[in-house]
Amino acid sequence: MAAKILLLALLALVSSQAIASDPSQLQDFCVADQNSQVFVNGLVCINPNLAKAEDFFFQGLDKPGNTMNKNGFNATLVTAMQIPGLNTLGISLARLDFAPYGLNPPHTHPRATELLTVIEGTLYVGFVASDNKLFTKVLNKGDVFVFPENLIHFQFNPSNANAVAISGLSSQNPGLITIANAVFGSNPPISDDILAKAFQLDKKTVDWLQTQF
Ligand code: MN
Repeated sequence: MAAKILLLALLALVSSQAIASDPSQLQDFCVADQNSQVFVNGLVCINPNLAKAEDFFFQGLDKPGNTMNKNGFNATLVTAMQIPGLNTLGISLARLDFAPYGLNPPHTHPRATELLTVIEGTLYVGFVASDNKLFTKVLNKGDVFVFPENLIHFQFNPSNANAVAISGLSSQNPGLITIANAVFGSNPPISDDILAKAFQLDKKTVDWLQTQF
């Protein structure tokens, strides 16, 4: 009996390790039904016999995103929301545009590792590991850098020319948590007593920060 319980515990451990990222496929594809009102982990499939090439297609990633904003940055996402055929495939893509001195501010992707390559200009990039060690690199055209799943990372254009990068992400729906927005721009706001203590700031500074996000 004890041996059986031990075996079950081991099996549970092994199977939980096998699904540490997007779940693996049980069929060739599962094109998302964009009209379904049913909620599952991922998106509901259409009848596979109705799938067509357009379901696996997206165009326009050659077009620069609009960087006329506070950060001088734009991300054009190509996830399962843009390509229904990506549903259940565990991968997605993004085009990142940076104006001169543009910044993709510190953020995390709760479900994906990011693999970035610079196709124009220069980027200063980095991520922070869970022991607070910072890893940074200056990237030029053709350089590639990895941001491990879940870790806080950023990309900054340190030059007065535009920069463009393409990122692959290991989830059909990587998710995005921008640190400053989540902390100072939550809805409803986190109490300024809590933020003042957490960041060792006076409450006036916290209140001002909260008006910025
Ligand atoms: Mn990212």
